[in-house]
Amino acid sequence: MIDLINVSFSYENGTEALHDINLRVDNGEFAFIVGSSGAGKSSIIKLLLRETTATEGTVIVNGYNLNRLRNSQIPKFRRSIGVVFQDFRLIPNMTVYDNVAFSLRVTDASTKLIRQQVPYVLELMELQDKARKFPYELSGGEQQRVALARALVNDPPLIIADEPTGNIDPEFSYEIVEMLRGINRCGTTIVMVTHEHEMVKYFGGRTINIEDGVVVFDDYIGGANESK
Ligand code: ADP
Repeated sequence: MIDLINVSFSYENGTEALHDINLRVDNGEFAFIVGSSGAGKSSIIKLLLRETTATEGTVIVNGYNLNRLRNSQIPKFRRSIGVVFQDFRLIPNMTVYDNVAFSLRVTDASTKLIRQQVPYVLELMELQDKARKFPYELSGGEQQRVALARALVNDPPLIIADEPTGNIDPEFSYEIVEMLRGINRCGTTIVMVTHEHEMVKYFGGRTINIEDGVVVFDDYIGGANESK
């Protein structure tokens, strides 16, 4: 699903953000990527979304070799990933329903499919009562659930969540991760970047720690809530 092989990445000014990274995330996994500010987390995300390309090494995501991906293939590749950002990135003048439907409309989905899928994912994210609201009428946690519904609606094999709880009150942050866990249990691979160590300790699972552009830890940690 995700395979980084001897990947290094430097910015144009010469800063080496990632150095010789080897990282594989298989289908169906849930992996946390943690690390301090400046560790290289955003640079990895940019590589995975093909916003930039590796300076050295090979990046494979969802069967696409991103080193060789032609520009014309980028939109199709990006549709194979659902992305959730720290700042939600909802369209402010669209309702919850239309924000989610938009993600299907851009793929030329049929009206029938839109009418089936949008209510389905809104219900999964417990947003069925918010369909006609606008983003500004929702709390941060609710807005992020809309973003999750939007990421899910195309049924991508992979969801990348970049600090999804960064702008949410702590009491609702856990709910967002619970929802990501639920999505993962249905088979979707999830990579979640976070700097919130408490959250990772609470949930446990595969934890990849990046510091100064290298992987310093990659293993499973037990979660504090595991017996529940
Ligand atoms: P994180 O997301 O973990 O905070 P980044 O991937 O943003 O880390 O940064 C990794 C390194 O790359 C840092 O040393 C950072 O200063 C540097 N960096 C990030 N963005 C740029 C950029 N646009 N140009 C040059 N250096 C950058």
